[in-house]
Amino acid sequence: MLKTWSRALEILKNRMEPEQFETWLSPIRPADNGENLLLEVPDEFFARWVRDNYMEMIRDAVWDTARRHVGIDFKILEGRSSTATERETPEDRQIAQQTVLAGGQQLIPRFTFGHFVLGPGNEMAHSASMMIARKPGGSYNPLFIHGGVGLGKTHMIQAIGHLVKAEHPGLKVVYTTGESFVNEVMSALKFKRLDTLRYRYRGQCDVLLLDDIHYLAGKEFAQEEFFHTFNDLYNGQRQVVLTCDQDPSSLAQFSERLRSRFQWGLITDILPPDRETRIRILLSKADRDSFELPLDVAEFLAERFPSSVRELEGAMNRVTAHTMIRKVPLTLDIARRVIERIITDRRGRLNADLVIKVVADYFQLTPMDIRSPKRHRAVSVPRQIAMRLLRDHTDLSLPAIGAAFGGRSHTTVLAALHHIQALEDTEPATMRAIKDIERSLGVSPENN
Ligand code: ADP
Ligand code: MG
Repeated sequence: MLKTWSRALEILKNRMEPEQFETWLSPIRPADNGENLLLEVPDEFFARWVRDNYMEMIRDAVWDTARRHVGIDFKILEGRSSTATERETPEDRQIAQQTVLAGGQQLIPRFTFGHFVLGPGNEMAHSASMMIARKPGGSYNPLFIHGGVGLGKTHMIQAIGHLVKAEHPGLKVVYTTGESFVNEVMSALKFKRLDTLRYRYRGQCDVLLLDDIHYLAGKEFAQEEFFHTFNDLYNGQRQVVLTCDQDPSSLAQFSERLRSRFQWGLITDILPPDRETRIRILLSKADRDSFELPLDVAEFLAERFPSSVRELEGAMNRVTAHTMIRKVPLTLDIARRVIERIITDRRGRLNADLVIKVVADYFQLTPMDIRSPKRHRAVSVPRQIAMRLLRDHTDLSLPAIGAAFGGRSHTTVLAALHHIQALEDTEPATMRAIKDIERSLGVSPENN
């Protein structure tokens, strides 16, 4: 068993980011436990973290070495005080403490209300956001904005931040993402810097903008910390704004008390823009970037990319990059050719590289993200979608699909396919994403 573990570790090392591997896998000591693996970890927090974040990968790696089912259990080494800090070199500690200290994120200058194009799908969310920004901490707390990928949630929540800063210069605005909040809480717990974290999110914060709260799903420690942060801010009549990929009542893996708090204030959604709004978004972007966008090109792009503004903008960027590099005028014919090239490639043959590339583009990730061992939702769902598309539209076997994603096993692929099927049945956003990507790959049912 000890051999199995050391070989599994070799595999894991290749599949993980080095810092993650050093922090969470290297410190584990295996103990012989007959046919099963007993992993000794320094404390309860460590065990929970590894279980929540790396268990699936560990199982895979152990399966790949032992080729049979091996039970995996954790043993907490009690009596060793605060091993988490002792294990680290001073440099490690400094880096991690800086994460806690730096926290929060900057606002993107162009994400203002002025650059936000209104349409029937976002008008409600827009007026709610303006109202909150003008009078933060008033009667609508929290403001909860939900909507699918690439529809302008981040733009909107940051616009609130910009307007608050302009109209209430004395108020302290903190913007962060769910992912960053989870990481900060983790570092703070590990390096005992909760005081710093709390000072930032409670002591030094009048308006908390937390983007993509769905990242906290299943992350109990982060939810616990956020729950108290929320109560503190709420009781002090300070404003909380949240964005999410779904409405609060359908959020799974959230504590009931948090879910109910999400519904205390104002809930509003952003729907995909209609055709006319899509055209106006393109024209306004062209105007901002000072180039001439012929109406027929805008119409063509708006028809082709109906359900995500991010994708729409991405398509326009591809077209304008092409015309700039080739020094050719921007015409409907050129736009068609640039957008449809991907389909011509496909007729050559759809392969894993192409599918991964298109999926990555759609979600604004890199192909490397898709192949990486990262397990957070923003990467794992796109990865599962890519696997699903390869199964549906190529002759690749499950092991071959797994191999295309950084050497994953066929059981992982199978689990991914099940998961994405479940999501497709319950989350309209996922279903839409799959349809959109199939369309850009030229394999949607309408094309056949
Ligand atoms: P989300 O956070 O919902 O995934 P983003 O806020 O990141 O989406 O929006 C994706 C891109 O689309 C951004 O560049 C954003 O500026 C742009 N965008 C979305 N909606 C609009 C809109 N109504 N007007 C102008 N730009 C928009
Ligand atoms: Mg966003």
